[in-house]
Amino acid sequence: MTLHVATIVEDTDAEGPGRRFAVWVKGCTIRCPGCCNPEMFERAGATPHEPEALARRAARCGVEGVTVLGGEPFEQAPAVARFAEEARARGLSVMVFSGYALEALRARRDAGVDALLAATDLLVDGPYDARAPEPRRRWIGSTNQRLHFLTDRYDPTDPCFEASNELELRFDGHELVVSGWPTAARRVLARARARARGASDE
Ligand code: SF4
Repeated sequence: MTLHVATIVEDTDAEGPGRRFAVWVKGCTIRCPGCCNPEMFERAGATPHEPEALARRAARCGVEGVTVLGGEPFEQAPAVARFAEEARARGLSVMVFSGYALEALRARRDAGVDALLAATDLLVDGPYDARAPEPRRRWIGSTNQRLHFLTDRYDPTDPCFEASNELELRFDGHELVVSGWPTAARRVLARARARARGASDE
């Protein structure tokens, strides 16, 4: 089983509660206008990872949990489910961002989708709506998106879920990796892409 990955950040506190191992999967057919990761729409160009090995790597990082975003995790649900199950077996929590609503995912009655939902502690669902950026809730892109506590691993009244949003910038070699506050990340990435286009046109 193969997990098709765009980017990994091994230790971040900008993608969910505590320090987390974040995996951006590659491939998304939803294509929300204004998505900050359009380079992750296509599956092509993904780096293949074996889910169990990736979970072992996450556990070695000493983090609280793993976060899977993208790209659309439920478009490769069986492999993401295996990764999530293996992460959970090592004591890590699992947070997943999806452009699909929870009700629509449950209605599919698909074994891979159900397995991923069963292995998820926190689910942020719904497509990104660029017209309604989220002003308050941490980690969440637009006001239509919901945070579901699918297990009792986290307390919805924990102040960490109300803290102000944050933006994390880091370089992976020559590549700028932007994570955290989705609305600000979109602005930073749009400017970086415009500058890169300008430089390549000169
Ligand atoms: S579901 Fe997520 S990755 Fe897919 S287009 Fe929407 S914001 Fe982008």
